[in-house]
Amino acid sequence: MEKEIKLEIKELKKYYPVLKGAFKKVVGQVKAVDGVSFSVNKGETFGIVGESGCGKTTLGKCLVNLQNPSSGELLYNDTETGVKNALNLSKKESFKMRKKIQIVFQDPYSSLNPLKTVYSAFEEPLKIHKMGDKSKRKKIITEIFELINLKPEFMHRYPHEFSGGQRQRICIARALCIEPEIIICDEPVSSLDVSVQAQILNLLKDLQEQKELTYIFIAHDLSIVEYMSDRIAVMYLGKIVELADAKLLYKTCKHPYTEALVSAIPTPDFDKEPIRNVMKGDLPSPINPPNGCSFHTRCPLAEERCKIEEPNLKRVKGSENHYVACHLVSTVEE
Ligand code: SF4
Repeated sequence: MEKEIKLEIKELKKYYPVLKGAFKKVVGQVKAVDGVSFSVNKGETFGIVGESGCGKTTLGKCLVNLQNPSSGELLYNDTETGVKNALNLSKKESFKMRKKIQIVFQDPYSSLNPLKTVYSAFEEPLKIHKMGDKSKRKKIITEIFELINLKPEFMHRYPHEFSGGQRQRICIARALCIEPEIIICDEPVSSLDVSVQAQILNLLKDLQEQKELTYIFIAHDLSIVEYMSDRIAVMYLGKIVELADAKLLYKTCKHPYTEALVSAIPTPDFDKEPIRNVMKGDLPSPINPPNGCSFHTRCPLAEERCKIEEPNLKRVKGSENHYVACHLVSTVEE
């Protein structure tokens, strides 16, 4: 059966101007997201991985309209109104769409207002989106508290009275209470203790099943992304360099950058010496990315051609759902 596409991103770019001098002359552009295209199916978890500074968080913010993309298309398949370009909506339509796509941030401490009780933090979006009267709102909030395994009597407490894990559960629940269809999870467990991370990840999985949610899961920890995702895109300097089904990517990754990331995953086998592909150098500046393949300055396999010609993301020969941007991999034109 053909899968229903929930979100389709086409050639999305987000550039920030670099200003210099008293007259603020534009002297360059930070290419945070540089022509990214992918689609996300209904009910799936689409993982995005990459080093800090690769553009994954900026991409997530563009998807929820917290950043205005410089160009591109963001086609959102609304259950009620059909497919719409989210970057081309009227104020009213944009307000409605914000309800459908929510984001959960990395830091649950700064995501909640320390001066407001958790109940008010939940009630505010419900009021903004005109969801029920006072008693209906209380019912929604009580139900959502039970859903995330927190006692409803805790709802009148302040954020500092909760642990880090509880706060992140509260942030997830707050995103859920206005009934979104898509949730962008931006490093949702990175600031939590390892013992709490599994609880949050399992909660996200349970909620996805119960409410038929679609997730975009952004993280730098590959083992967590593998656990959560159906498909994964690997980002480097604002571009996708590899995209594949989660299992396939970890077993047979093709791009030298993905190989280096996968080889850096710690293994629990203490008797076996891990083989690591250590990358040389740091991530180049997105203001002045290298010509040709942007990974060539760190790639152990780089050839002369890689310095001149930029590889496009193409389907790997003999594979259905595996795409890579590297000159050395056999690919097919589509
Ligand atoms: Fe390395 Fe060249 Fe492939 Fe880029 S195109 S990843 S530089 S081999």
